[in-house]
Amino acid sequence: MKRLQERFLKTSLKSKWILAVGATIFISYAIISVVLYIALQTWLINNEEKNAVRTVEDLTSFFEAQGSSVTIQRLQNNTALMKAILTQEQTVRIFNLDGIEVISINDITPIAAFPDGNDYRATLINEQSIDGKDAFVVHKLVQIGPFHGVMQLIHPLTTFQAMMKYILTTIIIVGIGALVFSVSISYYLVNLLMKPLVQLRDAMNLVRNDGFKAQPEFQYKADDEIGDLLHMYRTLMNELEISFTKQQQFVADASHELRTPIQVIEGHLSLLSRWGKNDPQVLDESLHTSLTEITRMKKMIEELLQLARNEEVDESKSADVEIVYEEVSKELQQLYPTAQFEFHVIGQKETAAITEHALTQIFRNIMSNGIRYNRNEPKIQTTVNYTERAIFVTIADNGIGIAKEHIPYIFDRLYRIDESRTNAITGTGLGLSITKMLLEKYQAEINVESTLNKGTAFVIKLPKK
Ligand code: ADP
Repeated sequence: MKRLQERFLKTSLKSKWILAVGATIFISYAIISVVLYIALQTWLINNEEKNAVRTVEDLTSFFEAQGSSVTIQRLQNNTALMKAILTQEQTVRIFNLDGIEVISINDITPIAAFPDGNDYRATLINEQSIDGKDAFVVHKLVQIGPFHGVMQLIHPLTTFQAMMKYILTTIIIVGIGALVFSVSISYYLVNLLMKPLVQLRDAMNLVRNDGFKAQPEFQYKADDEIGDLLHMYRTLMNELEISFTKQQQFVADASHELRTPIQVIEGHLSLLSRWGKNDPQVLDESLHTSLTEITRMKKMIEELLQLARNEEVDESKSADVEIVYEEVSKELQQLYPTAQFEFHVIGQKETAAITEHALTQIFRNIMSNGIRYNRNEPKIQTTVNYTERAIFVTIADNGIGIAKEHIPYIFDRLYRIDESRTNAITGTGLGLSITKMLLEKYQAEINVESTLNKGTAFVIKLPKK
């Protein structure tokens, strides 16, 4: 049994399916057929027995109806009436008490054996094989006028047996037909259903060997579970491809961004080694530039690491937006003494479902951008609006603004608008992507509205604790 099970598990899904369907249909059909066959056989055989007994009773009534004056000779000469009571196959013989045959009607079957004991007062019925043919044999005492004798009725079962044979043949033929039909249907169905799965397997193989570009088109277009599976696979692969390309782009950009400060430092160091050592102005300038580049590089490495780590959500999240704002604005005021900060609160104070550390980083990134990307005297206006749904924080600046075409990309890693680069505002292009990552982590949302040369407003929707 175990071996059979193992062998079954080893066969292909196609064979398993066909085998399972075939076996199920065959077993169900066999059970139904056996039950039906036995029930039919019992019912028919009972019917045959009843018919045999009824004929005997009819004949007995017929003899009684002849009255006491009737003689055997008269009946012998006129058997037509008795013949009408019998069916075509039945044979009836009447014997005197010495066992000598006196009347025979429908002499089709030879004489049957008499039962043991010779007690025929009750109607005796038994099954016998006469000349190789099965039959019911009924024995009964009869009185015909003054004559006392024994009536023997032979009721052959040939019709019944022929009928049972016919039913059995029909059952077998229909069964084989049903089996062939169901196996063919399931073979067709399984082929139809397995085809996309085989295609999926081949597609996976192809992607494994040749990469994302080698994605075949699936022909299966049905709107069912397999269609869903293929669609899901396709979507997943596309997402993977996008994220894979992004990752590659990120690595390329990151190495490029890190190479630039290294090249700058290298340039300055070779300048110094050649003739700058004795020129205090060159020395001072080169050291200053190199230090700035190193600071930028350090910041970028720290930020890259933070993005790569993407730490777990802190469950004990809860932040007082006003306190966080207070701290960040104080810190920025020290860094940028000319900057002005305005703060408004609308509604009843509530805590936000985010860690203070994350919110500090978000505020710091957005507010410092507003100060840095600014040609006027920087003015940062912050409004906290506590509503029923969430806490909305709007941070607006009077800076250079962001052109519409750049807005979709400012949250991308390492994205810096060209003007920011040429204007020599130091930055890494990572601040807003870290901001976005933190906001997504705490189920917060961010929106940007900007007008060139007028300013930018970031609207953050923070979930409430
Ligand atoms: P960076 O380190 O360059 O500031 P960010 O991810 O913080 O990186 O910002 C990406 C780019 O979006 C910046 O280089 C800048 O060009 C633009 N940007 C962000 N905030 C502002 C702002 N408030 N006003 C104008 N431009 C902005």
